Amino acid sequence: MPMKFEVTFSKSYRPSGGVAVLLQAANAKEPAGAAVADPEGVLAKAVKVGKFTGKSLSSLDIVAPHGSPADRIVLLGLGGAAELNDHDWLKAGGAVAAKLRSAEKATVFLDAPGIEVSGKAAADFALGMEMNAYAFDSYKTRKPDDEAKSAQRPVKVTIVTGSVIAAKKAFATAQAIGEGVFLARDLVNEPANVLGPVEFAARAKELEKLGVEVEILTEREMKKLGMGALLGVAQGSSRPPRLVVMQWKGGKAKDKPLAFVGKGVVFDTGGISIKPASGMEEMKGDMGGAAAVTGLMHALSARKASVNAVGIIGLVENMPDGSAQRPGDIVTSMSGQTIEVINTDAEGRLVLCDALWYCNDRFKPKAMIDLATLTGAIMVALSNHYAGLFSNDDRLAEELLAAGRTTQERLWRMPLGKEYDKMIDSKFADMKNTGGRHGGSVTAAQFLKRFVKDTPWAHLDIAGTAMGSPTDEINQSWGSGFGVRLLDELVRANYES
Ligand code: MN
Ligand code: ZN
Repeated sequence: MPMKFEVTFSKSYRPSGGVAVLLQAANAKEPAGAAVADPEGVLAKAVKVGKFTGKSLSSLDIVAPHGSPADRIVLLGLGGAAELNDHDWLKAGGAVAAKLRSAEKATVFLDAPGIEVSGKAAADFALGMEMNAYAFDSYKTRKPDDEAKSAQRPVKVTIVTGSVIAAKKAFATAQAIGEGVFLARDLVNEPANVLGPVEFAARAKELEKLGVEVEILTEREMKKLGMGALLGVAQGSSRPPRLVVMQWKGGKAKDKPLAFVGKGVVFDTGGISIKPASGMEEMKGDMGGAAAVTGLMHALSARKASVNAVGIIGLVENMPDGSAQRPGDIVTSMSGQTIEVINTDAEGRLVLCDALWYCNDRFKPKAMIDLATLTGAIMVALSNHYAGLFSNDDRLAEELLAAGRTTQERLWRMPLGKEYDKMIDSKFADMKNTGGRHGGSVTAAQFLKRFVKDTPWAHLDIAGTAMGSPTDEINQSWGSGFGVRLLDELVRANYES
């Protein structure tokens, strides 16, 4: 259900009507804002009857008692004060947003007794509300009346907190990140008939408004560069491929950039090694890596991050027409290394290997991180709760794991090694594009590793987390936008000057 919030922060506020949201720590005597919302002190009975103890994300939703300036009161539990981290505030915001579906206005009393609420926490709370409310519904032309109405009129939310100035400042940053997440979600949710490589590139081009330099390489330019692996995937589609290079120069001029590379297969039929019909519609999301990179570039530029960042996305469609590549074909990548195509459905690595090589060759980045909905095998290993992390650099891997813990966009490190590398040796070429079923996500990473030289590099296999992952307080969308918050945190914690 679509919903928009118009958030303001205020030091003190007395609601007139609407919903009063009161936050409460576990086993605290009373919630935030009790004196304002419950002047006659009659909430206690409802709390007792409702067995509300302030347990994390538990709630109590009641008609406001006599004497309250609000119409409705929602109590939300925050759990133990000592355990609260950044992510808990996002989730609390999301949980509250879910309670405000039919509201016109709301007042949130944030400063629960016994809990310290920083400006950042208040901003994260507000971002959590927006993340919960995100909906991709532009193709639904028939909406129930109440939805149509609430889509037009945003819910006015006043967040009452002691740290107003810090909250406002932090919220500007949080919103930049939120916009990046929503851009990534939009791109993943968009159907492939609307979002082809050319259209995707045009969306990326819009980042110029934020000061990002955007170049779009066409098929001819890629041919000149020798990107035979990427072009081999694209040749079975009537829609031409694109390679987009985005540069955000927020750091010192002489600083080497940090590079992000995304797989952007706008639709993956599997090619001649065609996929079964069941569930194939989900392959419109096979550009989740490119979406995350684009969303990240939006976030970094919108919040004016003091970092030099490069985003490169390889945009192709994998289709099986008369000019499609065949199993057994041998293609030459930009690196000069030859690849025997065993399975045309293992196309993501063919796109990425040229994008990675190009990125490394042109920008000499201090580190490269690629994101790709690369293998079904990663879901066999980790389901859709963790993304797979592969890296040739322990420090970079640790930084990513830490960012994953902070944002709860969680990563699990997987192995690389000579034994796995051998599995992709080919009888006829330098390598083949699949090592078989066993260790499928590892051999895919091993393949990419052959194109990064000694540059610190990490590969995130987000096939399980970019789309169709379990919904929660801050994501109700099929396309999750996974990777944007994770990598923004990575940059913020380690790479800003
Ligand atoms: Mn595929
Ligand atoms: Zn694919």
